[in-house]
Amino acid sequence: VTEWQGKHVTVAGLGVSGIPAAKVLHGLGARVTVVNDGDDERARAQAAELEALGITVRLGDGATLPEGTELIVTAPGWKPDKPLFTAAERAGVPVWGDVELAWRLRGRDGREAAPWLAVTGTNGKTTTVQMLAAILKAAGLRTAAVGNIGVSLLDAVTGEERYDVLAVELSSYQLHWAPSVRAHSAAVLNLAPDHLDWHGSMEAYARDKGRIYEGNRVACVYNVADKATEDLVREADVEEGCRAVGFTLGTPGPSQLGVVDGILVDRAFVADRHRNAQELAEVGDVDPPAPHNIANALAAAALARAFGVPATAVRDGLRAFRPDAHRIAHVADVDGVAYVDDSKATNTHAAQASLAAYESVVWIAGGLAKGATFDELVAGAAKRLRGAVLIGADRALIREALARHAPEVPVVDLDRTDTGAMLQAVQEARRLARPGDTVLLAPACASMDMFANYNKRGDAFAQAVRELGA
Ligand code: ADP
Repeated sequence: VTEWQGKHVTVAGLGVSGIPAAKVLHGLGARVTVVNDGDDERARAQAAELEALGITVRLGDGATLPEGTELIVTAPGWKPDKPLFTAAERAGVPVWGDVELAWRLRGRDGREAAPWLAVTGTNGKTTTVQMLAAILKAAGLRTAAVGNIGVSLLDAVTGEERYDVLAVELSSYQLHWAPSVRAHSAAVLNLAPDHLDWHGSMEAYARDKGRIYEGNRVACVYNVADKATEDLVREADVEEGCRAVGFTLGTPGPSQLGVVDGILVDRAFVADRHRNAQELAEVGDVDPPAPHNIANALAAAALARAFGVPATAVRDGLRAFRPDAHRIAHVADVDGVAYVDDSKATNTHAAQASLAAYESVVWIAGGLAKGATFDELVAGAAKRLRGAVLIGADRALIREALARHAPEVPVVDLDRTDTGAMLQAVQEARRLARPGDTVLLAPACASMDMFANYNKRGDAFAQAVRELGA
């Protein structure tokens, strides 16, 4: 009999985190009730699957705290001001996220728990944990890229598979709900306004991201070019001997990784006492070798080196890595114009990075702004814009920023939020583009006003480009 036997646990939210959480807790003997706001066809099918196991599911009511609840395990996206949590607070019921649950359950079966190398940041998380996993694999370690990337961390820590170390992507939401997680080493890649509607303020968002450094044992990796990340390291309470390690696109100082003459260089974890730097890889080993992506590679290398991985494995791992779809993916050239899908640029900071990678751009943008403003992005990109095509619910915010900072740039405002708008957007972009230009889908917004997710948005773009070429 364990502490979980008969414990009343409420799982908030069906979905990628809720379903594994409910199953694992049920397997431990807990009395699980899943509550979910939605009551659509998909939710019903998922509910039926859980009910068949003996788990109680309440659809269409995510607000009421079930009688007798001793613990809530929530999907990370649930906002802290929801009535369920207010009720829990009043009743003194703790709330954990799926990541907190995974942390508490790791190593339960008596085997040694794999340490976590954790990554957060506004942009580049998925890319960086994938690079990290590739490097760790090249070093012969048993590992996986898990967490916010869509692979259940809970399954990784409770499943059959054995790991030496985990490359864990954590979102700001997950960190908010994970107070006791202690990583071996962690990196905050960058910090720019995003999800402010959820966190309430930039300060609260930064505070949640900064939790990733709490209790780190070996290294807190920060971005030299982004002082806010360094500030978070300074504020963190870490284990004795844990080091602050910076990464920079410039020449690295002591305790930093950086770039010298096109070579990625480590000045933080140098085994040979007679040298003060270790060469890791060439810039050309990173795909794509765009500045923001070199930064991701340096962060991944720093975490791997903190774990003791040799330089050759960093190089081999980076060479083996290929980026996921919809991240600055070249779709096709049509009439001398390149069409690039960066649908994953769901906020202004990401769009800024991809716009900066091209000389002359016809920019397709718009969607859900999530509380963002666009002045800085538009002012910075104005010189590179051949034109802009706007779609989606919050496009007026971008149109107004363009009028303020780039009044000479031609703008086509498609007054549409239906899925078919993407084809028209691509056709309009083609009219604006000249040979040598890039038509770039970098929406700077979330996709959910028009598409199920950013993948579907990118697919619609690619399909529209194919129709142009046909
Ligand atoms: P995340 O998992 O944090 O959303 P991804 O690796 O999926 O990050 O990349 C998302 C988008 O962010 C990319 O399509 C690219 O536009 C942009 N991006 C990636 N890395 C960085 C970075 N280090 N700085 C700024 N933008 C970046």
